Amino acid sequence: MTEKISEYIIIGAGLSGLTSAYYLSKSGITDFKILESRDRVGGRIVTRDGIDFGATWFQTHHEEVIALLDALGVEKHHQYNEGKSVLVYSTMAPEHYFENDPDTPSAYRMKGNSQALIHALAKPLSEKIKLNTNVVGIHETENGVKVETDKETFFAKKVIVTIPPLIATRISFSPELPPEVNETMKKTHTWMSNAIKVGLTFKTPFWRAKNFSGMVIGQVGAVTELYDHNDAENSHFALMGFVNEGLRDVSEENRKQRILNYLSKYLGAEVIDYLTYEEKDWSQDKHTSCETIKSIYMSPSYGNPVFAKSFMSGKLRFSGAETSPIHGGYMDGAIYSGINTVKKFLG
Ligand SMILES: Cc1cc2nc3c(=O)[nH]c(=O)nc-3n(C[C@H](O)[C@H](O)[C@H](O)COP(=O)(O)OP(=O)(O)OC[C@H]3O[C@@H](n4cnc5c(N)ncnc54)[C@H](O)[C@@H]3O)c2cc1C
Repeated sequence: MTEKISEYIIIGAGLSGLTSAYYLSKSGITDFKILESRDRVGGRIVTRDGIDFGATWFQTHHEEVIALLDALGVEKHHQYNEGKSVLVYSTMAPEHYFENDPDTPSAYRMKGNSQALIHALAKPLSEKIKLNTNVVGIHETENGVKVETDKETFFAKKVIVTIPPLIATRISFSPELPPEVNETMKKTHTWMSNAIKVGLTFKTPFWRAKNFSGMVIGQVGAVTELYDHNDAENSHFALMGFVNEGLRDVSEENRKQRILNYLSKYLGAEVIDYLTYEEKDWSQDKHTSCETIKSIYMSPSYGNPVFAKSFMSGKLRFSGAETSPIHGGYMDGAIYSGINTVKKFLG
């Protein structure tokens, strides 16, 4: 039996992979598959209970994000920042309060949260996306590439690898990638792969009623950054932020208690009356992170020129937020690289 050879295989159904697929479709190419190891699309973009546990914000200079949202009809709204914000700079000194400058616009969020973008991209592609499909090998063949997964083997003329470079070192490539590419992949920190996010939902936005913005900032506490995370319609009430990484290794119960105590201290005892409480430690997520992340310090440096080259006689190209020379690590970089990689293939 002759194997079916697709025109393209895209590895990873995160923002970059889905954008490449969107751009291929827009260019009239529909013969492609997207292979994704998780049981969901979106990668480092995930929304649960109305809370973004991955990417959330973008700004006016993130032109690729704004253009894609416009093209897909996903609306944006400003991050709420009215009222008093809290700055905790020492455990010994009292907290400080500050008001955000009304003339400096806050960052944007997506209406419907960041999943709105992922859903808009993935919806027309559902038949092409294979979830729970972990790619383990990419091998050049005479007329294309053979992509081995933990289940089936797939064939394509060309392949786009959108997995974070450090995670992609788990894949076996034949012929091997040049040593400088391997080295660069190993040294490319996966942006935010060590972040721990916390999200709480509430019956009422009690902090707004007390003229708090919901913003609590400080490196010395259990939560280093906290923000109002109500929806655009102000009908779903939530706070979301980043947990101090010093609490990674304490017990779940201990961490939760310290987070609740800390937030109650600065926003009020109403914090304890949350409806839902959830944390996400990205360092524990094997689809984004890997063991070396905790022990080796790697200064983020993205868009290394090696990722702009093609490999396997022009059949393989890399993409993804960390490969982007523009706004590397961010959603904007993921979109830029997703489009640019397809453009390079199309010539
Ligand atoms: C906590 C957190 C907060 C963030 N906040 C912001 C923010 O506010 N603003 C912003 O601009 N950016 C933010 N980011 C970064 C943003 O999420 C990323 O830039 C973007 O989502 C990356 O998209 P990507 O497609 O390049 O990579 P990913 O989303 O990592 O996609 C790669 C995909 O490949 C899949 N995969 C991995 N291994 C395999 C394999 N072997 N086989 C098949 N599939 C595989 C993964 O499951 C994943 O779906 C944040 C990230 C995190 C984690």
